[in-house]
Amino acid sequence: AKDDGRNTHRVFTPAMRESATDRIMLISKLRSALANDEFELNFQPQIDLTSGRVVGAEALLRWNQPELGRISPGQFIPLAEESGLIVDIGAWVIEQAIQTAADWRSRGLGELVMAVNISALQFRHGQLAQQITSALTRNRLPGANLEVELTESTLIDDTDRLEEAIAQLKRHDVKLAIDDFGTGYSELTYLRRFAVDRLKIDQSFIRDIAESDSEALVTAVLQMAHSLGLTVIAEGVEISAQADQLIELGCDEAQGYHYGRPMTAAAFEAVLIEQLTT
Ligand code: C2E
Ligand code: CA
Ligand code: CA
Ligand code: CA
Repeated sequence: AKDDGRNTHRVFTPAMRESATDRIMLISKLRSALANDEFELNFQPQIDLTSGRVVGAEALLRWNQPELGRISPGQFIPLAEESGLIVDIGAWVIEQAIQTAADWRSRGLGELVMAVNISALQFRHGQLAQQITSALTRNRLPGANLEVELTESTLIDDTDRLEEAIAQLKRHDVKLAIDDFGTGYSELTYLRRFAVDRLKIDQSFIRDIAESDSEALVTAVLQMAHSLGLTVIAEGVEISAQADQLIELGCDEAQGYHYGRPMTAAAFEAVLIEQLTT
C-alpha cells in the first residue's frame, strides 16, 4: 500500500489497538520515523463560501511506515501524545507547514492561511510560541497567514503557560481556531479569554445537517459566533447538498471531500496555479 491513493491508511483491528505489544511496537517505530524521513504533510483546501475560492489549507500529517504501510493519524497521533514524541513531531509539522506556506506565498500563489493542528502537550513542553514565531520570521511568513487549531479540551485544560503562549502568538497576528467545535464542552468563556478567531464545526454535525436537530445546532453556532465576531468553517462537507445548505445558513468557509481531499504539496500547488487563472 504505497502510493495507491490518498485514503489507503492501514486500519488496525480493535483487537490490535488494544494490544499493548502492538502499541509498544508502533511507538518504537514512531521513535525513528522523524530521523528516517517517514512523515509527509498533506494539505486540504479550505473554501470561502462567498467567493468559492481556496483561502486556506489545513496541514494533515501522514506516516508512511516502510513495513506497515500508511498508518492513519487517528492511530498514531494518540501514541505520539502518549509517548511525548508529539513534541518533536509537532515541531517538524510546524516547520514544514510554515515553509510550504511561505514558498507558495513568495511565489505569488495567494494569501492563504495555513492551519496547523497542535496538541495540548506541545504547549506544556518547550517553547512552542517561540518556536512558531521564529519559524515565521526565518521563513518571512506574516503571522496572519498561520492558524493554530486547538481543541476545546486543550483550552479548558488551562495553564498559565498556555495563556501566555497564545497571547504571544496573538501579538504576532497568528489566528486561533477551535477544532471539532460542538463535541466538547458547553462552557464557552474560553472563546473570549483566548481571543478565538474562528470555530470549526465538527463534521458529525455536517454529516447530519439535513436533519433538523443538526441544522438547528449549526444555525445556533453561526449566530453565536457571528455575534461574537468569530468566523465559522464547516468540516467534512462531502456533498453539494451540504454545501448549498451551509451557504444558505450563512456559514463562512467549508472544508471536505466535496472540495478536495488532503493532497500532496505538489497537488495543492497545482490547484493554486489553476485558481490564479480563474
Ligand atoms: P482533524 O483535525 O479533525 O482533521 C480532519 C480529519 O477529517 C482529517 O483526517 C481529514 O482527512 C478528514 N476529512 C476531511 N474532509 C473530510 C470529509 O469530507 N469527510 C470525512 N469523513 N473526513 C474528512 P486525518 O487526516 O485522518 O486526521 C485525523 C486527525 O488526526 C485530525 O483530525 C487531527 O486531530 C489529527 N492530526 C492530523 N495531523 C495532525 C498533526 O499534524 N498534528 C496533530 N497534533 N494532530 C494531527
Ligand atoms: Ca482551520
Ligand atoms: Ca484540525
Ligand atoms: Ca476537526
